Amino acid sequence: MVTPKIIKAGEAPADAVLACYRIADVASPRVPSVQARCDGCDARIWVALSSPNVRRKICLQCAIEEAKAAGDDPTLLATEIQMADAKKHAH
Ligand SMILES: [Zn+2]
Repeated sequence: MVTPKIIKAGEAPADAVLACYRIADVASPRVPSVQARCDGCDARIWVALSSPNVRRKICLQCAIEEAKAAGDDPTLLATEIQMADAKKHAH
């Protein structure tokens, strides 16, 4: 089981999982993005053009489910994502 982690572009290991917002949840992305499909549930997701090139791209919901399954604290993951998002938003 791969644990979702928050990573910066350029630091992505080959087995990294990219957690993306669902298009259903975020009508328009804040950064230039392309549409893709979640590798977990096939939901439509936004993938930022600046994203690292990783094998798996999944939606935020699947990332939280995978964190739970891996025994990580999904609350922590969600908080990290929100914090990363808040930082992006501050600029
Ligand atoms: Zn999904």
